Amino acid sequence: MTDPRPRQAERAQERLGMVRDIEAEVRETVSWIGRSALAPRVITAMKRVPRHAFVPPSQSAAAYANTPLPIGHGQTISQPYIVAVMTELARVGEDDVVLEVGTGCGYQSAVLAELARQVYSIEVVPELAEQARERLARLGYTNVEVRAGDGRKGWPERAPFDAIVVTAAAEEVPPLLLAQLGPDGRLVIPVGGGFFGQELVVVERDAEGEVETRDVLPVRFVPLRHASAEEA
Ligand code: SAH
Repeated sequence: MTDPRPRQAERAQERLGMVRDIEAEVRETVSWIGRSALAPRVITAMKRVPRHAFVPPSQSAAAYANTPLPIGHGQTISQPYIVAVMTELARVGEDDVVLEVGTGCGYQSAVLAELARQVYSIEVVPELAEQARERLARLGYTNVEVRAGDGRKGWPERAPFDAIVVTAAAEEVPPLLLAQLGPDGRLVIPVGGGFFGQELVVVERDAEGEVETRDVLPVRFVPLRHASAEEA
């Protein structure tokens, strides 16, 4: 059988180096994130996704550095450590349906798609949504659906979600997203007004529907935009 994701073999050594850097940073930040190691499934996913296929050619050499990189349209591909930590905190199981807000280049979507049954991802910049959709299809990710729109409204037709991962910073947890989080669901979202002073927040809903919120880690994300009428 042919491998549906043939690019995985390329630059595998560099990916291992990136994963080692992520694991070292996880150990250094144990007091924030509350664990000294990532789940083996998360590590496997990070070793599989070809990050170099998600960055512009000009950034290809830096694709496996543990840093964010510019991807055009004033947007960035998140730092690998942050992608891994957000994925870990979302505790994605193999039968889970996951919503991502802020597709960007689609890298986090691919990591989630390695772990979940189905991923839905919303991107406010239509060109980025289109490019990510094509890229994910080309790489063989058949369990990700991308659409252009305002992710603050979620994707009500596909709700409820077992996990929701938001990769742009909100001033507060968007109520429509919280409403689409299912029983036992996890919502991972950067919250805070400016570029400084944001916190990665985890909101968990228990089986009875009660919600618990905790701050995990200081972070820096681009702001969650309010979509214009045409984009929404
Ligand atoms: N998930 C990406 C990170 C992308 S950066 C990764 O794996 O690297 C955040 C993205 O959120 C940007 O592409 C930005 O355009 C998008 N965004 C900002 N506001 C949004 C909104 N209201 N709805 C959906 N996407 C939004």
